[in-house]
Amino acid sequence: MHKSADVIIVGSGIGGLTVGALLQQQGISTLVFEQNSVPGGSCSSFSRNGYRFDAGASVFYGFGDDLSSGTLNLHTRIFRKLGIDVKTVHDPVQIHYHLPGGFALPAHYSRKLFLDSLQDRFPHEGEGIKKFYDELEAVYDILSSLPAGSLEDLMHLAQVGLTYPGKTFTLAMKTFRSMGKTARKYISDEELLRFIDIESYSWALQNALSTPLVNAGICLADRHHGGINYPVGGSGVIAEGLVRGIEKYGGTVRYRSEVVEILVEGGSAHGVKLANGECCYADVVVSNATVWDTFNRLVPDPRYHVAEEKFQRAPSWFQLYLGVDGSVIPEGFHVHHVLVEDWKRYDQTGGTIYFSAPTLLDPSLAPSGKHIVHLFVTAETSEWESFEKSNGQYLKAKEAFARTVIARTEKILPGLADSIELQVFATPSTHERYLNRYKGSYGPLLWPGQNVLQKPQNLTRVKNLLAVGDSTFPGQGVIAVTYSGVSCASYIARQMGKPLAYL
Ligand SMILES: Cc1cc2nc3c(=O)[nH]c(=O)nc-3n(C[C@H](O)[C@H](O)[C@H](O)COP(=O)(O)OP(=O)(O)OC[C@H]3O[C@@H](n4cnc5c(N)ncnc54)[C@H](O)[C@@H]3O)c2cc1C
Repeated sequence: MHKSADVIIVGSGIGGLTVGALLQQQGISTLVFEQNSVPGGSCSSFSRNGYRFDAGASVFYGFGDDLSSGTLNLHTRIFRKLGIDVKTVHDPVQIHYHLPGGFALPAHYSRKLFLDSLQDRFPHEGEGIKKFYDELEAVYDILSSLPAGSLEDLMHLAQVGLTYPGKTFTLAMKTFRSMGKTARKYISDEELLRFIDIESYSWALQNALSTPLVNAGICLADRHHGGINYPVGGSGVIAEGLVRGIEKYGGTVRYRSEVVEILVEGGSAHGVKLANGECCYADVVVSNATVWDTFNRLVPDPRYHVAEEKFQRAPSWFQLYLGVDGSVIPEGFHVHHVLVEDWKRYDQTGGTIYFSAPTLLDPSLAPSGKHIVHLFVTAETSEWESFEKSNGQYLKAKEAFARTVIARTEKILPGLADSIELQVFATPSTHERYLNRYKGSYGPLLWPGQNVLQKPQNLTRVKNLLAVGDSTFPGQGVIAVTYSGVSCASYIARQMGKPLAYL
């Protein structure tokens, strides 16, 4: 069996590409297979009629400089290491929340401005607000001073544990705590606790009680340090930059190449089979597919089957990519918004509307005088399976559902429906197909009460098969899967005798 590369990577999501770029630069050859014709998966871009849309992600952490974000600025560190230039533009507000009862609050980059606005709204909870957000800051202070590495790499653990014994111990203790329980130590106002729920739900798709304090400490503190920065050219620029890194050091990304099987013999992975029947071999295979796709589809041996209910399956999405006349966006409008009309429904399917207008940061993404409005709500594949495509029923259902989301969004953007010049809709079925993800899911979540360390790490039960991406620790989000990529690459590089220097 001729070896095609040292490491084969299934999928060019940000997790897979991070592994490929870091290993390739270290002299470990990599070959990435991507079923689509572009890299990036949920963090890719696509173009239509002069608009360049973000397929999914558009709120980005990890581009801060060293002083402002410690070691959490992984994108900055990786691109600097690879010698690849990715320009970004600073976003002064992470999310502008529009909540029931006319409660609206932008989460400003300035921590003081954010806390002052929240304390103005809940003066009786002023002290509790400070103490709660200080707890997140304490987690941030620890995490931003530790180097990124694999929790399965004993050398890394020993190095971190010996260099930072106090911080390591404190962090380990904090992994047992949830964001919601911590909030309830200091805060009792029900509306404020619901605000804290939406602060976690907006990126974790879980309420605060189900969200680990450690994850919250990254997202809700780093927004005030490294901040939110948008890549000029759109989300796909991150993936394209990583591909340039892989190719610069001699690696290969093969597009339109779906892996249909991970070849396992005697409990050890040694290659992949593509949809065209071609087999390619390597010492190690890394899967960037979800845990369910990897073990219930790509690895055919039923002994490795992973039950859906082992994790809480996050829903999928219904997305609207709109090209609109620029006049609909008022002066001073923020880029990212979250709209909740009814607290009883915010965590139900379709209950919360997410909204981004990235052209406010990068006008080059749309024709002159136009803007992009990207709206999405949670949705399930099961809601879309019964519609017949051949007789136009599916298309009609898509348009009807999209109209309801647009009408709801008019609350924060009056005149939206009449301003639309181009519209593209994606159902959960689109999501399932485009990302090759089980039920188009946002990925596996921890069950309430589970410790963040119970999220799968990179090693799997199959020897020489590792996993990367949002099925692995620490979870969903572009910066999170980048961490998972760094940890996976670090582990492999150490095993191959070419350990990576800390970023
Ligand atoms: C609508 C939406 C909005 C989001 N917004 C944000 C945001 O604002 N900020 C943020 O940080 N995160 C956001 N996220 C989450 C973030 O985008 C994801 O968590 C992250 O990008 C997932 O990366 P990944 O490496 O796990 O792989 P994915 O993005 O899932 O990519 C996997 C890749 O592997 C390919 N693939 C899969 N199976 C195969 C196979 N068998 N053969 C070949 N190729 C295969 C797929 O085609 C895909 O390209 C959002 C996600 C969605 C869906």
